[in-house]
Amino acid sequence: MAERIDGHTLLIGLMAYPIRHSMSPTMHNNAFAKLGLNYAYLAFEVTNETLPSAIESIRTLDMRGSNISMPNKQKVIPLLDKLDPAAKMVGAVNTIVNDDGVLTGYTTDGIGFMKALADEGLDIREHKMTLAGAGGAGTAIAVQAALDGVKEISIFNMHDATWANAERNVKLINEQTDCHATLHSLEDRDDFKREIQSSYIYTDSTGVGMKPLEDKTLVDDPSWFSSDQIVFDTVYAPRTTKLMKVARQAGLKHVYNGLGMMLEQGAAAFKLWTGEDMPVDYIHQILF
Ligand code: NAD
Repeated sequence: MAERIDGHTLLIGLMAYPIRHSMSPTMHNNAFAKLGLNYAYLAFEVTNETLPSAIESIRTLDMRGSNISMPNKQKVIPLLDKLDPAAKMVGAVNTIVNDDGVLTGYTTDGIGFMKALADEGLDIREHKMTLAGAGGAGTAIAVQAALDGVKEISIFNMHDATWANAERNVKLINEQTDCHATLHSLEDRDDFKREIQSSYIYTDSTGVGMKPLEDKTLVDDPSWFSSDQIVFDTVYAPRTTKLMKVARQAGLKHVYNGLGMMLEQGAAAFKLWTGEDMPVDYIHQILF
């Protein structure tokens, strides 16, 4: 670290609360070192209250940018100068790029999802996806998939606080992309089964399958799947979720956790700041 940092080093931040547990500083600093790039990435505890002055400091200190996480992903929007189209549709920002004092907001979770599939040689464009969940991750996935050319998305959600989110996502996707989106209730199990069976990919973005719901899955019957389908769970701890076990029982070869998405959302931010490709395999080895 000491030999890397000099008077020219540019700072990149991570502004969130709580944030001390984050793997992002390890991810980005190792990637900078590996590629010999003169940046340093630091995590800052920033709340909604301190967010305006923290964002202003990006301009004042001429930082290259920042990641943004909870609870600031929506609150940051009015503090920025420009928004990438996907971030505008998602209504959230996880990456800021500072170009000569002009701050642009991006969202890279959806890019990470699509790239994780591409890394496996899978192209879901022109296909149908059934997606459970319409929170932060589900919204980013649905919007990016629709923008990238996925033909149809059936979104399933519970009637909780995120139902309105799901309604908004479906409306925006239908108005602003060529993708046809529909909203369904997770309580209608027959409908859920039918939509999964007519999809090329089933994606779960609900977090069911991680603590405290480690032994749970929204689909516990292998007969709902056929062997040529893809199952993608955004959870990455545990590495193998109950849903993934059910899918493998059904003979599916393409069954994934959220690790690839997590690495690729970071790689997408890295590319926005540095213009370089993150050495993803190397970072994977370091982190896991
Ligand atoms: P969120 O709180 O914004 O949304 C949660 C969603 O799950 C909502 O749609 C909610 O209705 C649904 N849900 C919650 N409990 C449920 C239950 N018991 N049954 C059915 N649906 C339920 O959360 P988020 O930020 O969208 O995160 C969701 C999951 O995605 C988490 O597991 C998180 O770790 C994961 N995630 C992964 C990545 C990645 O890079 N792999 C990125 C972001 C989030």
